[in-house]
Amino acid sequence: MDSNRTQLTPGTLYLVATPIGNLQDITLRALAVLKNCDFIAAEDTRRTGLLLKHFGITKPLLSYYKFNEARRARELIELLRTGKTVALVTDAGTPGISDRGQRVVEAAVAAGMRVEPVPGPCAFIAALTASGLPTDEVHFLGFLPRKPGQRRVKLESLRAIPGTLVLYEAPHRLDKLLTELCEVFPNRRVVLARELTKKFEEFLRGTPSELRELAGARRLKGEFVIVIGPERADSNAGQCAGCAGCAGEA
Ligand code: SAM
Repeated sequence: MDSNRTQLTPGTLYLVATPIGNLQDITLRALAVLKNCDFIAAEDTRRTGLLLKHFGITKPLLSYYKFNEARRARELIELLRTGKTVALVTDAGTPGISDRGQRVVEAAVAAGMRVEPVPGPCAFIAALTASGLPTDEVHFLGFLPRKPGQRRVKLESLRAIPGTLVLYEAPHRLDKLLTELCEVFPNRRVVLARELTKKFEEFLRGTPSELRELAGARRLKGEFVIVIGPERADSNAGQCAGCAGCAGEA
């Protein structure tokens, strides 16, 4: 693939996934789109500017962030209407997954614009696949609500959800989250995926209380994805786990 001569479709919003740590994780197609588009819309133009500099790409950058996203989304749609190509990137990972990209995509779809994904790194997929926890049924939650009441209600509601759960959490709230998991999911297997694709990447596995102890002792820093395994059949001692060989007695 010659990334210098890739033809893009006019009037398309390209959702370009960018590395979550390791710059070598950028895809050939992501580079081709970034090189050949008319504009790059970025959450943080300074941060994206560094990424582009690393790959020797110079392109007009438009910022969209919390306080200008509605206006900026309208401007981006006008550019698309005139046949321009726009690559949307976020600070890291796949645009639209727990970040501001989703609002822009929503506006573009509502305006009837063409949207094309350029897949690549995504923190929750990287964490999930290496966690060793079941991947046949997965529920991705992004960030939990911050308000204590809403947060508790949300966590309690997750008990009823079968399959593996995946959460994002800010580093300064990790201790609080582990304490909450001790109360709501005391017996589940949990994996903390820390600093994915970076120098200090690690996977910490245990019950919520084991991990809380570890996190307290080591004062863990960095970015985290939290993967929570499904309810285990053996976690209710004395209760039938639904096997085929008995009539419901433990
Ligand atoms: N759109 C991004 C994606 O595709 O994963 C996620 C954006 S969200 C604003 C940022 C959160 O993703 C962080 O708080 C953390 O939970 C998770 N995250 C991003 N990069 C990570 C990394 N290298 N290691 C672990 N978690 C990461």
